[in-house]
Amino acid sequence: MDLAEIKIQLAHAIRMLVRAELLDMNGHLSYRIPGTDELLINSRKASRATLTADNIVRIDLDGELREGEGEPPSEFHIHTSVYRARPDVASVLHHHPHWQTVLGIARQPMQPVFSIGSFVSPELPVYETSSLVNTREIGDELATCLGEHSVATIRHHGAIVVGEGIQEVFARAIFVEENAKKQYYASLLGPIQPLEGENLERTRETNWKPIIAAKIWNYYAAQGE
Ligand SMILES: [Zn+2]
Repeated sequence: MDLAEIKIQLAHAIRMLVRAELLDMNGHLSYRIPGTDELLINSRKASRATLTADNIVRIDLDGELREGEGEPPSEFHIHTSVYRARPDVASVLHHHPHWQTVLGIARQPMQPVFSIGSFVSPELPVYETSSLVNTREIGDELATCLGEHSVATIRHHGAIVVGEGIQEVFARAIFVEENAKKQYYASLLGPIQPLEGENLERTRETNWKPIIAAKIWNYYAAQGE
């Protein structure tokens, strides 16, 4: 995949995340260029709703602009700190998902309550600094809080989702939020019953595979067309 294609895919993912109501006027998605210390990310000012490959900028791990029009988002530290801490991560999303944020405000740990979203767990970290992540210090602290997980909540603010590729991060973001929404509604009806034990293990194993991420991506892409 060349850089031009990755930029198109990033722009596509960001517009699909807007349609899925996971991104609004804020939020950003990045991709680490393989074998480099540089990343592609949507520019700070460009509208997420109409984003194109021209609105993607290339920056280094210090946030210095290497290519493109405009500046990176002020919270680029989320991305650079996670990439520094996690060599296995190739894509990072920061967004303000409604239901996941609501659960965080109510101090309700995420529970695996829905098959495709059952990769979540009460152990998923919650970062307690709710301000903009606009310094390296806060970014590094958030990356430490994330640890080896794929998802973290930023209390009273939003979340981050990381993974090995853009499609995986997209699909994960969709189903963390779907799971959070179902958990919220179920909890209105009474005590909730999360998946557990062998049933949870088998459900996770059978529901979260690369082929599923691709299927979710293709579904949203077809809807967009
Ligand atoms: Zn934010």
